[in-house]
Amino acid sequence: MLSSPRVDLTSTLFLQCFMPKIKILPLTLRNKIAAGEVIERPASVVKELIENSIDAGSNEVSIDILKGGRRLIRVSDNGTGMTREDALLAFERHATSKLLHEEDLFNIRTMGFRGEALSSIASVAKIILTTCSRNSRSGTEIDIYDGRIKQVKDTASVGTTVEVQDLFSTIPARKKFLKSDRTELYHIIDTVTRTALSHSDIHFRLTIDNEETMNLPRASGLRERIMQIYGEEFLNGLEEVQAEGSGLSLHVFITSGEHFRKTRSHQMIFVNRRPVKDPSIAHAVYRAYEGILPRDEHPVFFLYLEIDPGKADFNVHPTKREIRFADKEIVYRFILASIRNAIKKTRIKYAKDFMEVPHTHTSSPSLSPYSAPVYPQDVSQSEGVSENMEFSYMPHIPYLYLGGTFLALAGKGGFTLIDQHAAHERILYEKFLKGIGLNVHRLLFPQQVKLSRNEYRIIIEHQPVLGEFGFETDDFGHESIIVRSLPVSIELSDIRGILSDIASFLLEGIPPDKSLKEALAARIACHSSVRGNKILNQEEVSKLITDLEKTDQPDQCPHGRPTRIFLSLDDLRKMFKRT
Ligand code: ADP
Ligand code: MG
Repeated sequence: MLSSPRVDLTSTLFLQCFMPKIKILPLTLRNKIAAGEVIERPASVVKELIENSIDAGSNEVSIDILKGGRRLIRVSDNGTGMTREDALLAFERHATSKLLHEEDLFNIRTMGFRGEALSSIASVAKIILTTCSRNSRSGTEIDIYDGRIKQVKDTASVGTTVEVQDLFSTIPARKKFLKSDRTELYHIIDTVTRTALSHSDIHFRLTIDNEETMNLPRASGLRERIMQIYGEEFLNGLEEVQAEGSGLSLHVFITSGEHFRKTRSHQMIFVNRRPVKDPSIAHAVYRAYEGILPRDEHPVFFLYLEIDPGKADFNVHPTKREIRFADKEIVYRFILASIRNAIKKTRIKYAKDFMEVPHTHTSSPSLSPYSAPVYPQDVSQSEGVSENMEFSYMPHIPYLYLGGTFLALAGKGGFTLIDQHAAHERILYEKFLKGIGLNVHRLLFPQQVKLSRNEYRIIIEHQPVLGEFGFETDDFGHESIIVRSLPVSIELSDIRGILSDIASFLLEGIPPDKSLKEALAARIACHSSVRGNKILNQEEVSKLITDLEKTDQPDQCPHGRPTRIFLSLDDLRKMFKRT
């Protein structure tokens, strides 16, 4: 990029005769193409620069952002810094101090190693680098524009500051692909959060448009770092698991008890402190929960795996987001066994609940294939269903539970199968949407809820619409929200999880075929509705059926799944081949 001799192939006689179609691209274009792989958006710049600061041994890293990172991204650290000689070389493609020999590629202990980041960024933005190596007396400032060094001068500085201005100004076409500032900021905060989660020994500060957005002083360990970001209550819902073996070391914070989530947010995997996507590791975690994880629910996990760098290849993806293990099977089995072992207690408790013999209430025991049905008795105190129970005119319908979620009801011309969770979702969804029959519970003691930065921002932005659903909230500052009221169907103990799920849902973006209100109503209804495995008593079943009947679309839950299926005697005759 910084000028290098180029072989002019077109001058050979051979090529002149045949007018070649193939050309070797000019260096600046080559660099821009390469940059496309590494620098996708402002958050990629943030990621690369912070990783360089980490590799330079810094324990303080400050990030300043203006206009979603388009105008300015500045990362300052107190690391080793660079000599002038190194600083001038650092912007060359494949310039790195981290790899020397081919073997090093399979023994990587640094975040960077390809020597691509700085040269890539330099080809798509204006850069001002100031750096001072620990032994030199004066520092160096280098200004780069369009991949070329414009100015070099002396400066006083400590550590390194890289200032990236007007990102993609040299590639207008690329700039067009950037999303709103809000989206870009979301990715930047996410990047800083992930990096901070795996480097608790570093003080991270982030300012956005001159306002301090994150400030995470050096923490004593992962526990404290998670608490700094998500708050104590969130941390208390997690179980800490540590395990060693097969040359691997594992440290996981994972959903304890049954506090599962409706989304996959807060699932993070770090291998050798590098945030990665690894479907196989995630799969091992889900496998560990097999049998106790309800359908459509997800565990929270922060999983830190340490592996001998000789047994893992990080050079698979341009941004090192993926990893290839020498022996994937061993990693999978180790994680599965460690987590399964750790959540054994939850599993035993679950199994106990499941086997417990209830004292009363199957409407027609003679019909039941389960002579000892298996559900807890506390439904009447549970959510919405038992609210405002109008016993007087409830028809008594003979019913039968099939596997917990499903009810079979005998009717005149056949029978109906009902998914009670889906049915209840439909009822609540319409209540939320229409605001009719929606009961709101004012809290005697308003509850303070600490959220992550991104969650907090989006909840504050949606305060009015959440208010329409019965969530009255106040901004308490410092990523905290005060909850003053809730829809009755929501349990107070779940409030943090629910707000955080609503936030992740909003951050993911509303599906194009739905309005914000519809999408939110469906989400909240899903939270409030009867759990699939709760058994209802006669009155509750009757109420569920009459309420469902009163909805606009009794046959479908808000997600489009069926709530009930009718099988007529004719259908049965056909099924038994009697016609
Ligand atoms: P890589 O990180 O893959 O080596 P980069 O292009 O990100 O490649 O950086 C090139 C080199 O510049 C690094 O190897 C390192 O020597 C130096 N460097 C970059 N940023 C810093 C920093 N913040 N402090 C000290 N040295 C740095
Ligand atoms: Mg780097």
